[in-house]
Amino acid sequence: MGHKWKKEEGHHDGFELKHFAPHEFDHPQLMDADFMENLDTLRETCGFPLRINDDARTDADMKRIYRKEIAKGQDYPTSSAHLQIGDNLVRAVDIEPAVPVPGDGSSLTLEERELELIYQILRMYKLGFWPDLGLGLETGHIHIDDTPRLAHKRPAFWVAVSK
Ligand SMILES: [Zn+2]
Repeated sequence: MGHKWKKEEGHHDGFELKHFAPHEFDHPQLMDADFMENLDTLRETCGFPLRINDDARTDADMKRIYRKEIAKGQDYPTSSAHLQIGDNLVRAVDIEPAVPVPGDGSSLTLEERELELIYQILRMYKLGFWPDLGLGLETGHIHIDDTPRLAHKRPAFWVAVSK
């Protein structure tokens, strides 16, 4: 099994992930390949499916997400880890464990999966995969990124209400 990505999906022929298919990302062509391989490893060590709620965002996505703030003339983030800036592909996702269903490979409850996911993220950080880790516990998801252009603000940990 596994997912072979096609060139028109933004990554070289032969790019293959065991668990994630291009359609699970909104903008697969804007995602950094190494980071997606790390996500595949994370998914493998968790042992249960992970849902990707958000990945790379374009400027237009940001303007849609923050339209209320923009309408009121307020600031909105312009250096978000989800944004592709310059030639740097995006190394950020919002994820959560899939709701357990029989036969999905894990007997853990949803709560146990949430704890396991956080443990495995921190484990990868400790192993040196994500030296510029940003970890956000948000109301609707867990944010993870490893963003060199934000190195001056990394590692970072926050809790927040999901946008
Ligand atoms: Zn996020």
